[in-house]
Amino acid sequence: MLRTFSFVTSSILKHNVLQTALLFAGVLFLLLFVSACSNITKPDLPEASLSKPNTVMASPDQSAMQHTLPDTILNIMAVGDMMLGTDYPDYRLPPQDGKALLAGVSDILSQADITFGNLEGTFGTGGVAEKACPDVSRCYVFRMPPRYALHLKEAGFDVMSLANNHARDFGDSGRLLTMQTLDNAGIKHSGLEGDIAQWELKGLKVVLIAFAPFRGAHDFLDLDYVRKTIQSLAQAHDIVIVSFHAGAEGDAYIRVPFETEYFHGENRGDVVLFAHTAIEAGADVILGHGPHVPRALELYQQRIIAYSLGNFCTTLGIKVTGKNGLAPILSINIDQQGRFKSGQIISARQRRPAGPLIDKRHRAARLIRQLTQQDFPDTGLEIDAVGNIMVKAQVKAIPAINRDNIETKSDKSSLDSVK
Ligand SMILES: [Zn+2]
Repeated sequence: MLRTFSFVTSSILKHNVLQTALLFAGVLFLLLFVSACSNITKPDLPEASLSKPNTVMASPDQSAMQHTLPDTILNIMAVGDMMLGTDYPDYRLPPQDGKALLAGVSDILSQADITFGNLEGTFGTGGVAEKACPDVSRCYVFRMPPRYALHLKEAGFDVMSLANNHARDFGDSGRLLTMQTLDNAGIKHSGLEGDIAQWELKGLKVVLIAFAPFRGAHDFLDLDYVRKTIQSLAQAHDIVIVSFHAGAEGDAYIRVPFETEYFHGENRGDVVLFAHTAIEAGADVILGHGPHVPRALELYQQRIIAYSLGNFCTTLGIKVTGKNGLAPILSINIDQQGRFKSGQIISARQRRPAGPLIDKRHRAARLIRQLTQQDFPDTGLEIDAVGNIMVKAQVKAIPAINRDNIETKSDKSSLDSVK
């Protein structure tokens, strides 16, 4: 009995030791497993923050300035006019059939969530030009070979504006062919009334609409139409990007005039009135171009406005001397509400025969900084000498611009600071 008891006790003891050892090994294994897993699985973050770190873009000599911005969600890069070469009325196509034209900037442009440019011309192979060209050397009619759309795609462009004064160089059929060419290359577009680019990105509904004071485009001049169109887009989308091609052309018109501009007798609109109307209606980002030179930036209701991005890739038909050769890349970070968080003006420059090349002297950034200080001294943006754009820590309340005063131009007292 005792023997039996002792055997049972010893069995129980052995069993307990074995059980304890197994339990210990199990716990150890579980701890090791959990620890290993925590190193390989993604943290439980919202989907949007997993796809791409949001960083301020830096030009190659500024890599030390890169920093992570956890509260931003989309990085948008925008450039102005692009015309890669024309075979009408004479043959002005780039070397290597344009393969190297954007090589100096494609690494940068490809990094954005959205890369935008204004296509200042058409894609096509035939057709009838809208304008007569008695003097070929002074003819501004542009027809790019359709295969050049792939150069845009390879450089990183996602969406292009076709609302400008060259989209109809080969009439309505030329614009339709251009739209089809971009579709085939997988590039979105907006310009012709009703043609609006809409897509989803990082779980957000994004829309881009391009306006211009030119025939067939979403009408830049009809502010009631602008307001209603943007309001309805804002109801159905998270991020509303608005492009416009307006204002007078050339470096004599580099300052924002705060009134309606005319060029060659054409009404080219009031860019400030348009941009403010668009933001009040629900737009989040305003990307202006058309003057062929850069203009100021403004922060309005926490949204960014670029009044002109100038030229970007136009060496084969559009003047690129002086300020016309500056080719800024505006890189901006916005949050999921569309509010501007930070950005950078990455300076590039066109010098014939090359396409845009990074400018280590930051000329475009320094010019836009100066213009912003001159035209919008009270706006909530701080731009440093190398183009980093920050929101001023203490943004002063900016008085709303009196629309009646602007429209009648009888009293510009609210704009005394603009010289
Ligand atoms: Zn233009």
